[in-house]
Amino acid sequence: MSNHQNHEVPGADVWSASDLYRNAVQQLHEAASVMKLDPNVAARLSVPKRALVVSVPIRLDDGSIKVFEGYRVQHNMTLGPGKGGIRFHPEVTLSETAGLAMLMTFKCSLVGLPLGGAKGGIRVNPSQLSRQEHQSLMRRYTSEINMIIGPDKDIPAPDVGTDAQHMAWMMDTFSQERGFAIPGVVTGKPIEIGGSLGRAESTGRGVVYTTVHAKKYLADKGRGSARIDSSTTVAVHGFGKVGAIAALEIHALGAKVVAIGDYAGGIYNKNGLNVPEVHRYFQKNRTLVGYPEAEAIKPEDVLTLDVEVLMPCAIDGVITDKNVNQVKAKIISEGANGPCTTSAMKVLEERGAFIIPDVLCNAGGVIVSYFEWVQGLQNFFWSEKEVNGKLAEVMENAFKKVVQIRDQHDCGMKTAALIAGVDRLDKAMRLRGLFP
Ligand code: GLU
Repeated sequence: MSNHQNHEVPGADVWSASDLYRNAVQQLHEAASVMKLDPNVAARLSVPKRALVVSVPIRLDDGSIKVFEGYRVQHNMTLGPGKGGIRFHPEVTLSETAGLAMLMTFKCSLVGLPLGGAKGGIRVNPSQLSRQEHQSLMRRYTSEINMIIGPDKDIPAPDVGTDAQHMAWMMDTFSQERGFAIPGVVTGKPIEIGGSLGRAESTGRGVVYTTVHAKKYLADKGRGSARIDSSTTVAVHGFGKVGAIAALEIHALGAKVVAIGDYAGGIYNKNGLNVPEVHRYFQKNRTLVGYPEAEAIKPEDVLTLDVEVLMPCAIDGVITDKNVNQVKAKIISEGANGPCTTSAMKVLEERGAFIIPDVLCNAGGVIVSYFEWVQGLQNFFWSEKEVNGKLAEVMENAFKKVVQIRDQHDCGMKTAALIAGVDRLDKAMRLRGLFP
């Protein structure tokens, strides 16, 4: 972060310890300068509205007590309640959570949701906890942040290291403390307790929808074909809630997925992987390692293969100055939040790669979270077909808005996406005015 930035926003250095946060602010400032944003609005958006840091003590299975650190950051709530996932990861920090909350603000605004941006997390290695320890951690964390969440305040969801079961525990804890069922406090819940059909697949599906739109957009500009077929080679980094669905969906459309990697290992087959079979293998063995119909490669090598589409769907900061010169893909679909650093993104765009930025590419998750919240508030549930149809429509409109801004300003896709998000927020912030 520049001195200028610290100067403008007293206390900004409290937030700026992580690369992710600094990247988010840098991207915001780039968008601000292209769109000539009022510096007062830029200054307000450069820091979160509020953050809560909590200690989360739990009793481990061996009877000992361990204290974890947890956070919930609400970046901006101009457009509605805060919205964003809860991350369980050993590298979670206050600053990283703040950066992710900022990205949620821009994401929700860009796709037109009446929601603000928030994020939560616990600094923990989730693979080292038993199911009972996960439950204790989620419940105690919920109780500690209870006063700032709620269906009309701030609505958590799953993120890296958490899933529908964590949301069920969160919903139950929040409801127990109030005395009645409050499903609207979280999204990404199991269907049985008010979850939405299609929510679990929505982020991965959105990654594929935007990739299809990117191919059409590039074909219109005379850059390649819009068709998805066996000449469309794809590498997917991450095989969790986002990457697995993205791989399955793009494979179902006829693309050739040649490589998939997760944290433990990667697999490669130049003739294309049978993704449904890989998925079954992964569900059975909890790893890709040892999958028979492929060559074993290092997970990071998935990022530098000569493919048309690269989908980094694991975690932030995987494409950096260190490896960007080896990245060969023509389209980079950011399924994860922040997989390309700002400077790596510049290098990629300068050499002609087309980046579908995270706030657009992975917005499918929060869009269907919004549908889930709406369905819960109305106690009226939609079919999966309806959910997917509405998701496709929202994503298509957002994609069109972003490429239109890109063409108008001749800027990068991330900048264009942030301009779309910030423009709506700017108008809303002006209309609401500054209190007092
Ligand atoms: N964690 C997801 C994201 O980063 C989903 C958030 C939500 O549904 O609220 O977009």
